[in-house]
Amino acid sequence: MRVFTASLATETNTFSPIPTDRHAFEMAFYAGPGAHPDTPTLCSAPIPVLRRRAREEGFTLIEGTATWAEPGGYVRLDVYEALRDEILDQLRAAMPVDCVVLGLHGAMVARGLDDCEGDLLARVREIVGPDVVVAAELDPHSHLTSKRVARPIS
Ligand SMILES: [Zn+2]
Repeated sequence: MRVFTASLATETNTFSPIPTDRHAFEMAFYAGPGAHPDTPTLCSAPIPVLRRRAREEGFTLIEGTATWAEPGGYVRLDVYEALRDEILDQLRAAMPVDCVVLGLHGAMVARGLDDCEGDLLARVREIVGPDVVVAAELDPHSHLTSKRVARPIS
């Protein structure tokens, strides 16, 4: 079994005038593939947990980027898209996979894109197809949109 995991998260306050840029992610937490510490960080708990389970259960874990920005204003759209595409490129390179597990927050809003997590999950689904399990850890107070819970058509 092959499992891909990555994490992309922040909690956006759309009333804040301070944009969240790439620096905000890199300053708070940024770990490239395989560079995540052994302990969980905000929204990235699936990575160390899956590492342990991969060792114990013998499945293959492919790690993508994990990053988090402290809560702030709108994420710059180009910043979100670059981080998203970094993870999607890693997923494409990891294919075929049986499962995708993402550490998200659920309240990321980019300028011009209200549902970053829905956008990311839909693009992951396009890559893996209808038969792969796609899971996401979300903060309990996150937004829940129809795009995020859409069932794949198989
Ligand atoms: Zn939160």
